[in-house]
Amino acid sequence: DGATAPKETGPQPGTPSCSPPSHPPAMEDDFQFVLCEGCRQESPNLKLLTCLHTLCLDCLSENKPIRQCPVCRTAIPQASGIPDMDNLLFTNLQAKLSIYKKIRDSDGPNCSRCRGESATVWCSECEEFLCAKCFEDHQWFFKKRSHEARKVEELRAESAHQFLEDTRKSCNLFCSRPGHTDQGHISSIYCKRCEKALCCSCALLDSQHAPFCDIRSETQRRQEELGTMNQELKQKRSGFEATYAALQDEAARLEEAQREMRELIGQRVEQLVRLIRQEEEE
Ligand SMILES: [Zn+2]
Ligand SMILES: [Zn+2]
Ligand SMILES: [Zn+2]
Ligand SMILES: [Zn+2]
Ligand SMILES: [Zn+2]
Ligand SMILES: [Zn+2]
Repeated sequence: DGATAPKETGPQPGTPSCSPPSHPPAMEDDFQFVLCEGCRQESPNLKLLTCLHTLCLDCLSENKPIRQCPVCRTAIPQASGIPDMDNLLFTNLQAKLSIYKKIRDSDGPNCSRCRGESATVWCSECEEFLCAKCFEDHQWFFKKRSHEARKVEELRAESAHQFLEDTRKSCNLFCSRPGHTDQGHISSIYCKRCEKALCCSCALLDSQHAPFCDIRSETQRRQEELGTMNQELKQKRSGFEATYAALQDEAARLEEAQREMRELIGQRVEQLVRLIRQEEEE
């Protein structure tokens, strides 16, 4: 019919010669480790398994067989297949990196309080972006002049590493409850029964577990606990090292004995051969 398509077509207008990847990386390569090890996505619900793998709640609820780590097949002790332990460290790093991304965004962050104005300042203690007007209120009306507030402009010039290093001092933990991490709810309370850090509104909901303790005293207690464990492990290690050295000595001794024995056998065989030859000659 003569309407055959041409065998070769030139580049179509509007088609870039090098198309961008369909799934851009969720985060800078350096910070891939804060993602779920199953789906490689950010998640406010990261669980830490006993094998030290970190998986999001979504991956764990679809995991089969349910009581096995999908990465290394280590058994998960909980019957539900969902570990109790939240990976708060990674969740908080994700939250901080998302703040950093807002700072680096070309439009810049909006004020966290009035939402309308673009923010000029970030208060690391309130974990809030503030416009000039709300920053005034922060300083005078809410009497938070002692807070460490920094210019968004200044922070924009920093690398993600620097930003994390600077904000490490503030030590704020975001509440791990779904939704609360994104909204920047800060955990200030610790429930010993749930073994969880809670924000004030979560503590109200969990009131039957009161009295709670302050997150800072719990942090200190854990640090002391880790210090003691560290000491114990060091002692065990030096015990193992002593045993290892003794075993190495023993191995060297046995090797020496083996060498001597071989030599002796060699000598005896030679002697016997000599004797047999003598008897033959006689
Ligand atoms: Zn996942
Ligand atoms: Zn694992
Ligand atoms: Zn504002
Ligand atoms: Zn503040
Ligand atoms: Zn509780
Ligand atoms: Zn909460």
